[in-house]
Amino acid sequence: MTSHKHIIIIGGGFCGLSAAYTLQEEARAKDLPLSCTLLEADARLGGKILTERVNDFIIEGGPDAFVSQKPWGIDLCRHLGLQDHLTGTNPRERASYLLHRGRLHDLPEGMVLLVPTRLGTLIKSPLFTPWGKIRMGLDLLLPRRRATASEESIADFVGRRLGREAVEKLAEPLLAGIHAGDAGRLSLQATFPQFAELEARYRSLILGVLDRKRQRESQSGEASWSLFVTLREGLGELVEVLEKVLREKATIRTGARVRAVRRGLHCAAPPYIVEIEDGATYRADALLLATPAYETAGLLKRILPVAAPHLRTIPYVTTATVSLAYRRADCPHPLNGYGFVVPRKEPCRILASTWTSTKFPHRAPQDHVLLRCFVGGTGREDLALQEEPELVRLAREELKAVLGIAAEPVLARAYRWERANPQYEVGHLTRLEAIDRALEKSPGLFLAGAAYRGVGIPDCIRQGAEAARKAIAFLAGSAGGAAY
Ligand SMILES: Cc1cc2nc3c(=O)[nH]c(=O)nc-3n(C[C@H](O)[C@H](O)[C@H](O)COP(=O)(O)OP(=O)(O)OC[C@H]3O[C@@H](n4cnc5c(N)ncnc54)[C@H](O)[C@@H]3O)c2cc1C
Repeated sequence: MTSHKHIIIIGGGFCGLSAAYTLQEEARAKDLPLSCTLLEADARLGGKILTERVNDFIIEGGPDAFVSQKPWGIDLCRHLGLQDHLTGTNPRERASYLLHRGRLHDLPEGMVLLVPTRLGTLIKSPLFTPWGKIRMGLDLLLPRRRATASEESIADFVGRRLGREAVEKLAEPLLAGIHAGDAGRLSLQATFPQFAELEARYRSLILGVLDRKRQRESQSGEASWSLFVTLREGLGELVEVLEKVLREKATIRTGARVRAVRRGLHCAAPPYIVEIEDGATYRADALLLATPAYETAGLLKRILPVAAPHLRTIPYVTTATVSLAYRRADCPHPLNGYGFVVPRKEPCRILASTWTSTKFPHRAPQDHVLLRCFVGGTGREDLALQEEPELVRLAREELKAVLGIAAEPVLARAYRWERANPQYEVGHLTRLEAIDRALEKSPGLFLAGAAYRGVGIPDCIRQGAEAARKAIAFLAGSAGGAAY
């Protein structure tokens, strides 16, 4: 890179922040003549990450933790000097529950997401009928699927391998639940490709999971984290620290909604012009859009009309979280676990509940408990669209029915997330290929975001960083085109 280059990032959620951080770090390390402007519509950075600290409670409005097995989350924390602020889940109360006929049942020990690996605990579990258990065991004998190239829904895949009961009681609440989606519509290959890989490699999911477990156990190395980790002061701390680091070098504008993206008219000038709502314009040599796909579609409709319809058709659903704190003495349930999930068949209006003060004990004072409920998702978005008092009432009624908590909460907060959860439906990977092909025709344009290849925080960090590296390579003249 010989002359000075300017890159604009649109969207200051986690993907945009990760991209800006990578650009800044690479420019510093390689002494590149590169500047970066990040434009965020909201008054604050972080997008879906929103931590509120109220008295001695730490409340997460959006994500509350991230998986440790994907390294990008922990790596970023280490880079930012936050490794000592990381904390795992409470090792003493690891149970998780499932609501079945109005009552909570432990998920059998040894379940790896949906795959049973301990025959004894599965056989004893009252959650499954005898036939349901036999059907799950048939996975050991069934052949692998022949045509592995095409996408398959989570329900079809799990039904084929483990049977209908595993779909209703495990795949829907546990796998589709993570996406607040419908197991019959979500693509297994796009959401949980590891299960398709297990089948391709081992034929049986149970044998595959057991072998992978053995491999992990035999690998020595540094002490491993619990499956989920978070930051002591809440995930908002990651945003605060990133913002501080980025403001040293990058230009960050909040309250700057981008309303149009155009191509420059003069060949010699930087190729992209970005216009924000107050009329200000910015010029950029490369553009990285880290906005939700429907927003990206609108911004690109003039300069990339072929990609826009594909971006627009990535569906999103609305969800809400409701956090309720009670005096411990007012909670008749021991809350001896991380929480419970709710199969679709149950007449319950929440998707799941996390017992935050058990999972992460430092998030509430000792003499109080903190619980969080998830509302909405595919087919139930109207519930999540209610106003805060209705959402709080709904969550209180369901917690009373399931856990017997009748007392007034000492604290109640509801957070509505409209069109927040992208749905990787069957056909998602084909759609991404079409977007990739369109992007190849528009050098200097890059996309990152939860809508594409992973919704969790580590995947968002990875996608932001990858897009930033591709943008640098493009500006240095060594590569062009698409990136996620
Ligand atoms: C309720 C909920 C709970 C979740 N829980 C977890 C969890 O526990 N663990 C986990 O790993 N993941 C979780 N997720 C998923 C994860 O939080 C998201 O996938 C991730 O934060 C999305 O990051 P992003 O940068 O792609 O998008 P966003 O965070 O949506 O950021 C996009 C940004 O673009 C901005 N923007 C939009 N339009 C414009 C415009 N025209 N101009 C300028 N800026 C614009 C928006 O204001 C926003 O800040 C959860 C998600 C939700 C909704």
